[in-house]
Amino acid sequence: MKCPSCSEDDDKVLESRAVRGGAAIRRRRVCNRCAHRFTTYEEILRDSMMVVKRDGRLEEFSRAKLENGIQRSCLKLPISRQKVGAIVDSIIEELERRYELEIPAQAIGDLAMERLLSLDEVAYVRYASIYRHFKSLEEFVREAQTLRKASAAAAASSEKTAATDEADAPKP
Ligand SMILES: [Zn+2]
Repeated sequence: MKCPSCSEDDDKVLESRAVRGGAAIRRRRVCNRCAHRFTTYEEILRDSMMVVKRDGRLEEFSRAKLENGIQRSCLKLPISRQKVGAIVDSIIEELERRYELEIPAQAIGDLAMERLLSLDEVAYVRYASIYRHFKSLEEFVREAQTLRKASAAAAASSEKTAATDEADAPKP
C-alpha cells in the first residue's frame, strides 16, 4: 500500500482487526520509510450500495463521504479518529441490515445524528445544522428533544426487560 505521507510502496501491517461483525477488516500499517501510520479497510464489494437522494437521483454509497461528514462535526472535540471510524462502522452495519441495494439518503443522516447525539451534543448540533436545514431554533430544539427521548427510551428498554411504561407515552 502506498504511504499517504511519502508515497513509498513499502509498509508493515501492525494490527488486523475484524469489524462490522466480520464484514470488513481494518488494518493498522506503518510505512517502512518514514514511519507514518495509516489505516486501510478491506471489505466485500457488494453490488454497489446506492444512495437514493431526496430528488430521486442515485449516487454510489461512499464510506469516505460519510466519515468526512462525521469527522467534520467532531473537529476539535475530544473524539478520536478511531471513535469516528467505529461510528461509521456501526452506521454501515445498520444500513446493511435494513436495506438491500438502495438506501434512502435520509436514513444515513438520521442514523448519523442518532449516533452523534449519544456521543457528543456539540458534534450532534454541528452535524444536524448541516444535514437538516432547520427553519427555526424551535424546530431544532424540538427535534433534539424527540431524539433524546427516543434514545433514552431505547437505553431504558434494553436495561429493563419489564413491560413497557404506558405513562411515558406522549399525550396527543
Ligand atoms: Zn512513508
